[in-house]
Formats: sequence, structure tokens, C-alpha cells
Amino acid sequence: MLILLKDCLKDLLTTACCPNCKREIERCPQQGPFCRACWQHVALPARGLQGIHPYRWRAAGWYDGELRKLILKLRRHPDPRLLRALTEGLGATLPNDAVLVPIPGWKTESRSNPLPLMICRSLQRTTRALLKRSRPTVGQHHLNRQQRMANQQGSFAVEPGMPVSQACPGTRERAPELWLVDDILTSGATAQAAMNTLNECKMIVSGVICLGRTPLGRTR
Ligand SMILES: [Zn+2]
Repeated sequence: MLILLKDCLKDLLTTACCPNCKREIERCPQQGPFCRACWQHVALPARGLQGIHPYRWRAAGWYDGELRKLILKLRRHPDPRLLRALTEGLGATLPNDAVLVPIPGWKTESRSNPLPLMICRSLQRTTRALLKRSRPTVGQHHLNRQQRMANQQGSFAVEPGMPVSQACPGTRERAPELWLVDDILTSGATAQAAMNTLNECKMIVSGVICLGRTPLGRTR
């Protein structure tokens, strides 16, 4: 939250610059926070993408071309301002009371992918780190969907001490929607394993939010 405030103040006090190429820009609502050249190059749909297979998902854009390059760059050099620019359209598609659950990697904290948690912060919704990895998995690049499902099955556990039910006891209030958050959604096997673990604890997941969705013909 402090980082977001600092970035907002910086934007107000200094000349605006493009979060990608860092060139100075004049603000133009049609192109969001990017300069014209980067806006045309990244070509994000204004309100993101959404679909229902293999479950409900929302994405900032297709994991392809310039967005793919930016996601890979962000994994190596996390940049909250660029991330916020990429997730601008994504936030508009989410219910206001959505609760975000980042999908954790299995590597040690210092080497793990920082993006799921950073995307949650960027979307500025309630975030609950409900999940942890219970065992390592192998790299999935060359695996088909069935192999990925087997690779991920049982690889998550619910963090001890976390609430095991979404229901609000004693009230008729609608339980908040849980959304899983990852940077890339390919076959959906990782998120499915995470969902299964939460389901076993009576927590129902509404869908998955990601930065990039692998184009559907290439999801294996
Ligand atoms: Zn630019």
C-alpha cells in the first residue's frame, strides 16, 4: 500500500513517464498509462480478456508477443509501476469484494516468482495467502495437460491457522468470492490443484486471474 501511495505521489509531483520505456508522456485516457508507441506495441484489450474454460478466468491479455516479453522481464526485475499499468483493465472486471489468493511457487522465498503476490497488491483487493506448497513439482514446459495435472496433484496445502470456511457464521451475508492469482495461465493444471486443495477445506474458488493467458490452441 505504501509503495502504491509513493508511486501515486511521484506521478502527481513529476512529469508523467511511460511505465515501460520511461519516456516522458502526455496523459491520454485512451492509451492508459503507456506512451502511444508502447500502447500500440503491447496492445492490451481495454477491459482484459475473460473465459470459462477450464474454469472462469480473467487475463490482462494473451501470453504472446510483447506481453509475454514483459511478463518474463517482470519475473526477473519486478516493477510495481509497470505491473500496475498492465493490471489496470483487469481490476475493472473483478467484484469489489473479491478476495485474492496468490498461487505460491515451490522454490524458497528468495528464488520464487514474486508476481502472483505483486499482482494482488496491484489490484488493491483483500488478499489472503491461504496456500503453501506441500512438495516440489517439476518444470512443466514440456508436459501435456494430463502430465501437468499429475505433476501438480496434491502439491498444495492450506496454510495452518487460516480460516477453513468462507461462510460468515450468524449472518446472511454473501460469502466473498475467492479468486486465485497467477502470472500465467496455460493448461490450468496448477490452479486446478490449488482449487482442489481449497475445495477440500470447503472454500469455493470463483476463478483465476492472471496477467497472460496462453493462446487457446497452445494450451496443451
Ligand atoms: Zn513507452
